[in-house]
Amino acid sequence: MSQSSTLFPASVAGTRSTSRHGGAPLLVIGAGPKAVALAVKSSVLRAVGFDVPEIVALERDRTAANWLAGRGWTNGRQRLGTLPEKDLGFPYDCTTWGESHDPVTGEIAQRMAGFSWASHLQDRGLYARWIDRSRPQPSHREWADYLEWAADRSGLRTVIGEVRAAELRGGDWALTVDDGTDRFAVHGAGLLVSGPGPAAGVLPADGARVLDTAGFWKMAVEGFPDWAETVVVVGAGETAGTIVRELALGQDRKVTVVAPRATLYSRGESPFENRYYSDPTGWAGLSETDRQEFIRRTDRAVFSQEVQSDLALTTNVSWEPGRVVGTRPADGQVAVEIAYGEQHRLHRADLVVDATGGDPLWFTGLLGPLAEDALRAALGGAVTRERIERSIDSSLAVPGLPAPLHLPNLAALAQGPGFPNLSSLGLLSDRVLARYVPDVHADDTAVAEARSGSRTTARAGAPGSHHLDTSGAAQR
Ligand SMILES: Cc1cc2nc3c(=O)[nH]c(=O)nc-3n(C[C@H](O)[C@H](O)[C@H](O)COP(=O)(O)OP(=O)(O)OC[C@H]3O[C@@H](n4cnc5c(N)ncnc54)[C@H](O)[C@@H]3O)c2cc1C
Repeated sequence: MSQSSTLFPASVAGTRSTSRHGGAPLLVIGAGPKAVALAVKSSVLRAVGFDVPEIVALERDRTAANWLAGRGWTNGRQRLGTLPEKDLGFPYDCTTWGESHDPVTGEIAQRMAGFSWASHLQDRGLYARWIDRSRPQPSHREWADYLEWAADRSGLRTVIGEVRAAELRGGDWALTVDDGTDRFAVHGAGLLVSGPGPAAGVLPADGARVLDTAGFWKMAVEGFPDWAETVVVVGAGETAGTIVRELALGQDRKVTVVAPRATLYSRGESPFENRYYSDPTGWAGLSETDRQEFIRRTDRAVFSQEVQSDLALTTNVSWEPGRVVGTRPADGQVAVEIAYGEQHRLHRADLVVDATGGDPLWFTGLLGPLAEDALRAALGGAVTRERIERSIDSSLAVPGLPAPLHLPNLAALAQGPGFPNLSSLGLLSDRVLARYVPDVHADDTAVAEARSGSRTTARAGAPGSHHLDTSGAAQR
């Protein structure tokens, strides 16, 4: 394969390049909810006169692929965990782009409503039936349909191909994309990495009796073998939760969940806990210990209330505290070695599923030497998850790079727990796109100010007056 062509989309007609993107697009790896939410917000903002970058998604498969059967994360019939009203525009507060009484703010909100979950159902003629059915959670397949609809309507430009490399070239990002027949370069003013990354896993999967997440969902689609009567699931987060539910309820198998904590904790979903997901006001002012505790209680290694209430219907699920340190064949079964403190135990099962989730640092494998050096310099040392998580600024990017690298999946600790998931896609889009508009940009120093609880307000001329409150305080 050769480096045969270069794609650099032309600047958006009719806008002046006074911006920080100079007409170049914002590149997003993955055409999932984050790319679609950004495309919707970008199209709405451009329609009302803001010079924000166009969104170009690089996607190896198809729009919303990870929400469909056969792609490794779901069978498509699983139900969405969050409310569908937490859609692409949520929480619909547009005051990043103008004062609340400013007509432009109202116009943005109105245009955004045209891309809501409800608008999608109305457009498909399904709204009344959904209400009459008491507003059920959509399946992942139905959610994917919504995302595809919004991507089309917003004109999201998707380049099909796998991103193989990402390098800094001057003040831009240059991605090497492989579409199966050709390799070509795509350039952009900024880069946003979406998706959970490939399932990292703690066990080597053999595709037969020890499966990773993708192997499990492949088996689920193809049909479970009768011999897999007892199953060990490793991990206790949402990825594991959906797998346990499918096994115990959908397939009527006996499941033992192995997780390092005392039991299978429920996600904290009170209105007080949920508020930080929709609106991270005050988040940056909390101590790091409190923020980490919050994430542990409400997001990491917990099953959603919905999964828990489904599992209450069956006696098929038990759990063992500990960490799985290895597996070996044992008379047609698998012996799973579990360590808990000083103790080591063996647990036999017909099948083992490693559901410990994705690797959030997967993108570092794409970085070229210049990007890697720049990231190390920006972080002040080796590229570690901890350093990145602590550094993320209000635009959900690592500060100090020549071109922005937005990492919303690593933004929970510094900026708010809703940014890695679907909890506030509208706010995520505002934070990212504001970076490219000088008058609403919150610079890196603002992070420190936000941490100390102060507010930074930048004002501008037409259209309307715009401000970004870096603590998030003006966004309600
Ligand atoms: C099964 C499951 C259910 C979830 N349910 C919820 C929920 O109900 N509520 C919630 O808030 N969160 C949920 N999450 C967590 C999170 O919100 C999702 O992971 C969500 O999909 C993230 O959206 P995204 O846009 O970041 O990426 P994704 O929707 O994961 O999209 C990433 C895309 O990137 C593509 N891709 C990956 N690597 C490359 C590459 N190198 N080149 C090109 N393309 C690439 C993939 O094909 C994929 O289409 C769930 C996660 C999973 C796995």
